Amino acid sequence: MNKRGGIEWILLAALGSGCRSPQQPRSWPHWEAERDREDNRSLGGRGESRFGASGGEAWGGGFGSEPGHHLCLRDGLPVPDVLARIWLRYSVAGKEPVAFRVSCEDTVKVEGQLPSTGHGDRFEWISFPWTATRAGPLQIHPEGRLRLDQVAILPEDRTPSPEWSPPVVRSGGLEVRATDRSKVFDAPWVLKILREQCNALEAFLGIPCPPLVTLMAVHPEEWPDPGTGAFQSGTLVYLRADELHFAWRNYPHELSHVFQERWVEGVPLFFREGVAFLSAMHIERLLFGREELVAQRVSGFRELLADKPAPRFGQGSKNPMFDAKANSVGHPLSRESYEWAYAILWEMQEALGSAFVGNMSRALSDPSHPGVRALQDAQDERSKCRALVRMMEELTGRDWQPAFRRWGL
Ligand SMILES: [Zn+2]
Repeated sequence: MNKRGGIEWILLAALGSGCRSPQQPRSWPHWEAERDREDNRSLGGRGESRFGASGGEAWGGGFGSEPGHHLCLRDGLPVPDVLARIWLRYSVAGKEPVAFRVSCEDTVKVEGQLPSTGHGDRFEWISFPWTATRAGPLQIHPEGRLRLDQVAILPEDRTPSPEWSPPVVRSGGLEVRATDRSKVFDAPWVLKILREQCNALEAFLGIPCPPLVTLMAVHPEEWPDPGTGAFQSGTLVYLRADELHFAWRNYPHELSHVFQERWVEGVPLFFREGVAFLSAMHIERLLFGREELVAQRVSGFRELLADKPAPRFGQGSKNPMFDAKANSVGHPLSRESYEWAYAILWEMQEALGSAFVGNMSRALSDPSHPGVRALQDAQDERSKCRALVRMMEELTGRDWQPAFRRWGL
């Protein structure tokens, strides 16, 4: 879909590193480099009534723009001599709509609002009446962060062809989106696996599936880390296009993080990771009967919790899982830190049964819950951990302080 031709797109103001959306995955391999090259590019097809940039620049495609900057299509687009509309395929990551205007030769031709698309990598079409007889040069000024993937000016009775954009397959609140060059074959099967896992997680976590869950199929050559099977960002899970057809590696784990989007903000990392692990083990057992795999994963947990004196894992006096930085982007934790979080939650589930996960998860989705309010009032990661342990004690009727002290909290 990446039709490179003669039309030059110029980003008139240089884009800074602030383009990185906070919702993007923590390891986003080529984002910064792509942005750096974005000051002068040649894309689209000269003479066509549209410009297309799908994919190629980032997994989701499109060009980013910041408030105060604008995107310019210097050669413009031909305009049909009948009633026409301008179509934009765009994404707005934040919850609020982004106001924008399109100007042509310094005259504003369109002013409007672009509603949130839920994520910077979810592009949707929107159209506005176009009354000018010319469309070039064409400038698009957003008043918030915007990514733009395609622009077309079409007669009023035409809509953008699906072939212009990477395919999107939807079923209810679930969707599968291809990125540049990637293919989604046997989409019904891909959606079936996704739906079964979402149904299992609804029951396990005791909370409804988010209204929209997206699988992004990334071309294998674009995949940044051969050791990782999936990435998650908001309600999107990124999978390699050739691994869409199996729920394996960390796909169920990342899907649990998608459900955790329903929780209030600030839930400590060790709990989010531990619950994602328990969710994945639940799915492995329930849907795929992989008892052996589960046994293998948990075989060293008792030793991990019993053998080493707290604090663990050597980074100064703190367990890195309780370090505020552990929640910040670009601060990778050791494999052992994750294993430790998995081990704690596994031990708790062994002691209390899996219903405790659902009870906690439901409570964490309720902002009016007193324990949740205390959690949100806590200022640092360690105090948040303590508030969470108090919530667990109230919900389970057990004193977890000695265990957590032993475990390094
Ligand atoms: Zn995780």
